[in-house]
Amino acid sequence: DGSLGARAIRSTCPYCGVGCGVVATPDGRGGATIAGDADHPANRGRLCSKGTALGETLGLEDRLLHPEVGGKRATWDAALDAVAEGFRHARARHGPDGVALYVSGQLLTEDYYAANRFAKGVLGTANIDSNSRLCMASAVAAHTRAFGEDVVPGVYEDLELADTLVLVGSNLAWCHPVLFQRAMAAKAARPAMRIVVVDPRRTATCEGADLHLPLAPGSDVALFAALLAHLADRGLADQAWLDAHAEGATEALAAARAIAPRAAALTGLDAGVVARFCEMWAASPRTVTLWSQGVNQSSAGTDKANAIINCHLLTGRIGVPGAGPFSVTGQPNAMGGRETGALATMLAGHLRFDVPEEHAALARFWQAPALPTKPGLKATQLFAALGAGRIGALWVMATNPAVSLPDGDAVRDALARAPFLVVSEVTRRSDSAAFAHVRLPALAWGEKDGTVTNSERVISRQRAFLPPPGEARPEWWIIGQVARRLGAPGFAWDGPAAVFREHAAVTGLARPAARAFDISGLAGMSDADYAALPPTRWPVPAAGTAPTRFFAAGGTLAPRARLVPTPFRAPVEDVSAEYPLRLLTGRLRDQWHMMTRTGTVPRLMAHSPEPVLTLHPGDAGGLEAGALVEATSARGRAVFRLALDDAQRRGTAFAPMHWTAQLAPAARVNALVAPHADPVSFQPELKNAAIRIAPF
Ligand code: SF4
Repeated sequence: DGSLGARAIRSTCPYCGVGCGVVATPDGRGGATIAGDADHPANRGRLCSKGTALGETLGLEDRLLHPEVGGKRATWDAALDAVAEGFRHARARHGPDGVALYVSGQLLTEDYYAANRFAKGVLGTANIDSNSRLCMASAVAAHTRAFGEDVVPGVYEDLELADTLVLVGSNLAWCHPVLFQRAMAAKAARPAMRIVVVDPRRTATCEGADLHLPLAPGSDVALFAALLAHLADRGLADQAWLDAHAEGATEALAAARAIAPRAAALTGLDAGVVARFCEMWAASPRTVTLWSQGVNQSSAGTDKANAIINCHLLTGRIGVPGAGPFSVTGQPNAMGGRETGALATMLAGHLRFDVPEEHAALARFWQAPALPTKPGLKATQLFAALGAGRIGALWVMATNPAVSLPDGDAVRDALARAPFLVVSEVTRRSDSAAFAHVRLPALAWGEKDGTVTNSERVISRQRAFLPPPGEARPEWWIIGQVARRLGAPGFAWDGPAAVFREHAAVTGLARPAARAFDISGLAGMSDADYAALPPTRWPVPAAGTAPTRFFAAGGTLAPRARLVPTPFRAPVEDVSAEYPLRLLTGRLRDQWHMMTRTGTVPRLMAHSPEPVLTLHPGDAGGLEAGALVEATSARGRAVFRLALDDAQRRGTAFAPMHWTAQLAPAARVNALVAPHADPVSFQPELKNAAIRIAPF
């Protein structure tokens, strides 16, 4: 059951998508010591600063511990009745498209599954989206275009086996630190290994790199178009592999050739640097190209990711140990949300809206005759609809959209005007929860029990090692109680194992349509098997199977692949005389999201104790480092301490995304960012806002 002796329990870190295993040893007084799990395949005992400090984040200060209705403490029965009545009323008044859920990659898979079944199966709306829309929706869309399904082909070990590791739009050293540690250890053991960083900023990740390409923000498609053309010109297209596995090479190559001559101009890179990059990539059959939010959080995010995947497909450098395109997810369970379909663009278990037999199979399984037939509102659309009065009831779970979404002031105003807002949360320190009509206390990490899936498709258990505080409850239980009040069939789970079994069974529906995501081999697990579930990589189409890479020679995991033409598009918002700087947003090394946990640890706060905006010294215009400055965009304004650093690309600024209005009222960086989104993935362009800076 995950226990390691008298008291120690195996669990999974609740922060980033690396998904490190931890061993928690409770002290019996509400605290615990945390160590890395040497047996977990993601980290083999390693932890980063955030994971190491988990034991210091277990206090109950600021916790939401009791249900509240109208700002007053209420019983669970009264709160659940209020939620059911609020949704019943809004649905009757506005129809199924007038209600919505906005959920989170912080949820466990079981919670995600319950939320999606509730929205699509009970309310009959596809208006359920996750904050993962802000994180990796472009990777999902690119995988789906390239592989017919949201498939991550490789595994973490490939980063260590690669001769060349290319990191695109990824400050891996800060954002996925244990993967960076693994890559650096591999390089130390094998110094010939090359690491290349493609990023407008010279980040901490560049300290271990052999080559840094400080390209213009948003120009990645041009760089990978030049690479695709170079690979073809060098005769490296693997025609035998293409014949066996992929189509679309001719069209993708034609689109790349149309861009390639302008690659240096579009990226702002020296032509010699572009050529050196192409030559390094071409000369290294074992290359992994890893990308993260710098690629995804863009109005061209899907095309950027497909431009990367195209290079691997053209050369057949995929499915081989040490080679492949690799998307690393931000959140601990972003992948779980993709698996359960808790995004407006998916059904559940990778079943599709537009495949009638899959839709019908899920409608039957859920006893849901009103299962929606088309995608619902994506994150930015959902909050625009709320602001326009088209959403009568919204349930927000485990996320703080007033801070994390672009156009932050408009989102905050929409939440303030919501006719009926429910927030499930662990903390009182949430800008969004402040507007809620009903607040529901959820279990936090260390108290809740379930599974998460990391960036290499490994499903791991999060296990409870602390008692539930106050009246906090699991999200899946809360959702089930509301569903049953609305007369829905099902939702009679007696624990997370029952929810997981149902989720696993969904992935086996509507066979024999070939789908990569299949864990139906886990649908018959006993409670005891679930309690003891070791880290398990999907797919698991039958109990006991253990596949690893997709497209491996001789392997059965080989969906049909497609190279996608990726025309170049610049970021939507351009700089101007009025707003001459391009703002990029991102993470800090020692903080997670809105600092709900990490912000309570003094030694983590010490790394960067206040909101800072960084400029290149050449862009300071006489402003001194340490001065307070106000950043203004066409959307809003925010105040920061100024830092000057020549690692910043000229003409750009950087500011972290962590500060909430409750922590630093004037420093919500997303108040500056417009809600432009990728037309395929609907992921917002969070790494691009035209701003000006002035003394505050
Ligand atoms: Fe947690 Fe990510 Fe750090 Fe691992 S790398 S300890 S999952 S924050």
